[in-house]
Amino acid sequence: MNALHDGDADSYSGSGGLHDDLVRLRHALHREPETGLDLPRTRAKVLAALDGLPLEISTGKRLGSVTAVLRGGRPGPAVLLRGDMDALPVREESGVPYASEVPGVMHACGHDVHTAALVGAARLLAARRDELAGDVVFMFQPGEEGYGGARLMVEEGVLDAAGTRVVAAYGLHVFSTILPLGVVATRPGPLLAASDAVTVTVTGRGGHGSSPHAAADPVQAVCEMVTALQTMVTRTVDVFDPAVLTVGSLHTGTAHNVIPETARFEATVRSFSATTQRAVRQGVHRTVQGVAAAHGVRAQVDYQDLYPPTVNDADEAAFALRTARDLFGAGRAVEAPQPIAGSEDFSFVLQEVPGAFLGLGACPPDRDPATAPMNHSPQAVYDDAVLTDAAVLLARLAADRLELAAAVPTPSPTEKSR
Ligand SMILES: [Zn+2]
Repeated sequence: MNALHDGDADSYSGSGGLHDDLVRLRHALHREPETGLDLPRTRAKVLAALDGLPLEISTGKRLGSVTAVLRGGRPGPAVLLRGDMDALPVREESGVPYASEVPGVMHACGHDVHTAALVGAARLLAARRDELAGDVVFMFQPGEEGYGGARLMVEEGVLDAAGTRVVAAYGLHVFSTILPLGVVATRPGPLLAASDAVTVTVTGRGGHGSSPHAAADPVQAVCEMVTALQTMVTRTVDVFDPAVLTVGSLHTGTAHNVIPETARFEATVRSFSATTQRAVRQGVHRTVQGVAAAHGVRAQVDYQDLYPPTVNDADEAAFALRTARDLFGAGRAVEAPQPIAGSEDFSFVLQEVPGAFLGLGACPPDRDPATAPMNHSPQAVYDDAVLTDAAVLLARLAADRLELAAAVPTPSPTEKSR
């Protein structure tokens, strides 16, 4: 049993051994990570772990998702709990004894913890099924890391899996840095950023490096574009509704004395509101085309809105923090002072139904959260100690939210302004 946890899981489940089971499952998932929308070995482990529980289970059509519905013993609405299951193309250097056995693939974002915790929540809630005032939908999602798996699951009907639209949805994410071990953090409104991907291809006219006047130099043009885009952000975006634009890749040319024909760069854009997202999108087109025109070259801009901002419902965020505070004490449940510029495809769920996304500190106790390797780093480590707490927190969010709905009838998502 971990030091963080006060025995609540056992009293909640009425059965011991949960933590050890979750650690075993998490390590098995970690050893055999998979990326993308189809995670056959991960899905098999999840299905095996859910086997024997009183769940209605279905799997995805266009992706390797698992949706499980638990019917409560009392009538009531449905709520959704989500865990993402996919890993990253990262070569693991964490040094943990259960490190990845798949070359070049690692659970570097801790989604193995989320998956195991959601299995734990299913076990805890199944043990208290008769008391539940409604149904719980467990959303085991592949393809979070850039594949939009949540959007696909929403399209395939996960929000209505219980036969009625869920009234609330919750998910959590572990952090190997920033938050101290075991601390839960969330906030009302934007929690995570929108993420867009930009690819710019500039076509000029190649030639000899000694005679640029006889060519149309795309190198000079992209250099100006990269700096002009930073200036565009500072002149276009409200400082209190910010955006980040980072050019992370730039490729052109073959030799010191050849003016190339083309140049290409890629950027990520992060923002926290539809207004700023739109302003930056327009600004990128305007700036790139303006600079291209000034240089007499052609530019093609491919601007893709990947993920919307993850926006918590204010009431649901307050409820989630209250629940975490009740479980773990005030010192371990804090309101995040500001959003962070990472992004999440749970945003597609929160676009449809009210809910809250929570951060959970999983930095090992022998590391400093201020300097520990961050999520996605090959050295990132997520401490097993949070597994049971994460499971209990998810289970309590579902059970208490259904209880709340039984006491106060919930307005339908369409009535409720979000
Ligand atoms: Zn992640």
